[in-house]
Amino acid sequence: MSKTNFDVCIRGAGIVGRALALKLGQAKLRVALVDSGAGGSEQSPRDIRAYALNHASRQLLESLRCWPDDSAITAVQRMEVHGDTTGRVDFDAAQASQPGAGLDALATTDVQALAWIVDVPALEDVLQTALRFQSTVEIVTAPVPARLTAICEGKFSASRDALGIASHGHDYPQQAIATRVKASQPHGGCAWQWFSGPHIVALLPLGGAAGDEYAVVWSTSCEQAGRLSALSDSAFAHELEAIVNGSSNDSANQYAQPGVVSLSLIGSRARWPLRLSQATHWCGTMAQAETVAKASASPAPAKNRATHDAAHAAQGPGSWVLLGDAAHTIHPLSGSGLNLGLGDVATLSHLLLEQPNWRPVHDLRVLRQYERERKAAMLPFAFATDSLQWLFWQDLPLLQSLRNWGMRGVSSSGPLKDWLVRQAMNL
Ligand SMILES: Cc1cc2nc3c(=O)[nH]c(=O)nc-3n(C[C@H](O)[C@H](O)[C@H](O)COP(=O)(O)OP(=O)(O)OC[C@H]3O[C@@H](n4cnc5c(N)ncnc54)[C@H](O)[C@@H]3O)c2cc1C
Repeated sequence: MSKTNFDVCIRGAGIVGRALALKLGQAKLRVALVDSGAGGSEQSPRDIRAYALNHASRQLLESLRCWPDDSAITAVQRMEVHGDTTGRVDFDAAQASQPGAGLDALATTDVQALAWIVDVPALEDVLQTALRFQSTVEIVTAPVPARLTAICEGKFSASRDALGIASHGHDYPQQAIATRVKASQPHGGCAWQWFSGPHIVALLPLGGAAGDEYAVVWSTSCEQAGRLSALSDSAFAHELEAIVNGSSNDSANQYAQPGVVSLSLIGSRARWPLRLSQATHWCGTMAQAETVAKASASPAPAKNRATHDAAHAAQGPGSWVLLGDAAHTIHPLSGSGLNLGLGDVATLSHLLLEQPNWRPVHDLRVLRQYERERKAAMLPFAFATDSLQWLFWQDLPLLQSLRNWGMRGVSSSGPLKDWLVRQAMNL
């Protein structure tokens, strides 16, 4: 393939960038995928996380023939969310598919699972392997000229910043720690979440229906995250047990009784800063971006300037578009960030591939439609996760009663529960 004749240049080879490359490449567009790590000899550490993926993400990955095999997937049959006193909501896939079970809108849908917990390295590998066989996609190590530049560089995207695209939002005073644990009992396909003082803990089942391992996502104050990261494995597991078994010092969490008696750490621990953010613009022409970047060229960091100059030389005329964490980030408490990113891939590729042949791939009308649709899809998730994290972050007794009362209300309200499940499953 000629190095100067690409339809699309995708910057960033995370899961969103790889999925977009495959989707467009399978439709015979000529795609360059910028993988800054490609060709390097250094192996980056494997991601310890497992993602909760919804039905729409599964459909997209299956259409790419990149749904990992059963050894890397666990179906979530049940989900229990516990507040910090009596609040509790539970969801059940079996109930959801039965008419008259309260989740009536789901009764007509073939609900095999509420979600799937997917091992991240396994998903990355299956996408990487598929790319090797996709002759219309070329892996490059630096941006190349193309009619459309798709920026999938994640939340710290240098290309987005270099183009002068601002993001609004705020940092959470929290960090997330991820690791893996083995439990003394099988999980039975149940995912758990506890809101307990400054802690939001999720246990995501691994190892198939009969498994006894969990991926852990523990969001907490930066101070607590620092302290927890420094603990020995056994002390960390002990503090985790205190929350999940309901004997934490700082809360009356005695209502959470998952039947998990003891936990032992089986993975390393990694930490992430958390942020709610949304780029102000998700698409534009390179020419407009150049003007904005120059106007706001009040001394950009040298690293960004270098990236921008390189990008400028490579871009030529054309358009740009943002996807995934480069466009938006939310708190991981709902396990929706990648689902939204894969939703971006599905919508953009659908719009690009369904448009009449005479419209070029960088047509701004199509890109603006993508931006409108995806901003609207993102809104309820950003609002819900931000509100929930705020509500449980407060320690006023009135708010504590209110949030636990709200959870009980959701649990007993058929239509609201139905709506929540449909949002989470993307049905
Ligand atoms: C603790 C935690 C748990 C989560 N759990 C879930 C979950 O259960 N379900 C879910 O849906 N989401 C979850 N998320 C969110 C999910 O991790 C992100 O939404 C997702 O990884 C975003 O994918 P991405 O490809 O857009 O960005 P990234 O994963 O950040 O990938 C970006 C890629 O671009 C590369 N890159 C960066 N800059 C450049 C450059 N200048 N040139 C070339 N390449 C570049 C990076 O190296 C990286 O490979 C979780 C997040 C956290 C922090």
